[in-house]
Amino acid sequence: PTVVNKIAAGEVIERPENAVKELLENALDAGSTSIEVLLKDGGLKLLQISDNGSGIHYDDLPYLCQRFSTSKLEKFEDLQQMRTFGFRGEALASISHVAKVTITTKREGDVHAWRAFYVDGKLAPLSPSNSPAPQPCAGKQGTVITVEDLFYNVPGRKAALKHGSEEYRRVLNLVQKYAIHSRMVSFTCKKVGETVASVSLSSRLSTKDKIRHVYGTLAVKHLKVLNIAEGATNVESFHADGLISSADYEDKKSVFILFINNRLVESIELKTAIDETYSKFLHKGASYFVYLSLVMKPEQLDVNVHPSKRIVHFLYDHEIFSAISEKLVDLLQTTDE
Ligand code: ADP
Ligand code: MG
Repeated sequence: PTVVNKIAAGEVIERPENAVKELLENALDAGSTSIEVLLKDGGLKLLQISDNGSGIHYDDLPYLCQRFSTSKLEKFEDLQQMRTFGFRGEALASISHVAKVTITTKREGDVHAWRAFYVDGKLAPLSPSNSPAPQPCAGKQGTVITVEDLFYNVPGRKAALKHGSEEYRRVLNLVQKYAIHSRMVSFTCKKVGETVASVSLSSRLSTKDKIRHVYGTLAVKHLKVLNIAEGATNVESFHADGLISSADYEDKKSVFILFINNRLVESIELKTAIDETYSKFLHKGASYFVYLSLVMKPEQLDVNVHPSKRIVHFLYDHEIFSAISEKLVDLLQTTDE
């Protein structure tokens, strides 16, 4: 079983970025308004996510890193629906099979925090003289998850990820996108030993200001609001919000950020539809900036391709893509607001 777990975990967690994404989403699910990411060697040596969310109940600590044994499971009757975003209740389990995980957590009203250490899905002693039971400790409300020595037991994977700087770049990119999307949440991301964070995006900033910080002034000058109200398409409960660059925006590289139901995902088909629409308006070699947030029924999505990448397919792809393309054309045709 350990081997199976390790292989499965290796598929879900390919690199630090995948672990950070899962941990960020957990922190957001816990209602955090402030999330800090700390990395050493691009997350390969150490990766730590601190949040000020709900914290984790002491009784849940022994089972936290076991597959399919999480509290979120109980909230869904339908396994199919629950699995819409790939792998529910598997993230911490997967991470603990390829790294050493320490969790420090405190809930509102708790007298002190608890610290628990996990190896291969199970509680382990923090030091040889200790018992594996969670230990009381100091801490503020919320959760700190520390992931050390990622892939220590997967030598092939470890050897493939030689460049901490590349991993760091990927994590920064990910944190920036979540910061742009999650309006009420402040994010920072920094390397161990750094005094000034590489990313520091406060919830006080507007979405446009966050985009300006990350992608530069150029992008923001030309941004237009895209909005498709619920009921505007034939697709039940579908609506969309976003910011898109106008036809006179030019930059080196196009940016397409897609959130569906508050998860960062990829859709090759939707990207192609957007490419095609822009190509009718942009100069040759010009590029675009598109940030879209779609909300729809999870059962109208299929996330079956690769668990770590979360590539989605749409049940009503034609309706959705043409609604977005039409809106884009409308916005791109008007040169000035
Ligand atoms: P899932 O998110 O699919 O339930 P995970 O393995 O990602 O599975 O997380 C397991 C459980 O641990 C979550 O359901 C949640 O109850 C708890 N949890 C994980 N991270 C946090 C956090 N930062 N704050 C509060 N609870 C958390
Ligand atoms: Mg999760």
